[in-house]
Amino acid sequence: MQTSKTSVIANKKIDNSKMIKASKIILDLQQELKKYINKGHGPFLAAIYDDDGNLIAKAANSVVNKTCSHNHAEMNAIKMAEKKLGTYDLSPYNLSIYVTSEPCMMCLGGIMWSGIKAVYYGVPSSRVTKITGFDEGFKPDWFKEFKKRGITVYGQIETDAGEKVLKDYVSQGHTVYKPKR
Ligand SMILES: [Zn+2]
Repeated sequence: MQTSKTSVIANKKIDNSKMIKASKIILDLQQELKKYINKGHGPFLAAIYDDDGNLIAKAANSVVNKTCSHNHAEMNAIKMAEKKLGTYDLSPYNLSIYVTSEPCMMCLGGIMWSGIKAVYYGVPSSRVTKITGFDEGFKPDWFKEFKKRGITVYGQIETDAGEKVLKDYVSQGHTVYKPKR
């Protein structure tokens, strides 16, 4: 059940059973994310599943602890899935990526080139920036663009739980990285 006040937005109609499943996965990821943060990871977690509900890859943001600006959760999970399946094209596998927050501009590109078929995310970028100060980049009307490319998007799932994790990340004094300008 959707319990957050923010309503879900999408670029395609979704059936209720899929939404219930997505809410559960996102809530579990938000819960698990706290453990990753305690181990020095950034406050974002992504998981890739196939249609039968098998977990293919799961990874957190590791920009700071692995010193790489590309190491966003989505990019790490995609790299892991491609390595596991031995391919640079995930499209035959009909995979979905679930992310605790809306993908940034780099990760939108990463998702697009990977062949992933569906994106489910929690906290929207505008809220991520407002709460944490992380820069999510400039983004086109990506819901529409992804639809054209056959990628479905469901956003703002269980946002209250996600916002709480981000607020705690900031109040605990963890790093909010960005290049100096
Ligand atoms: Zn990203």
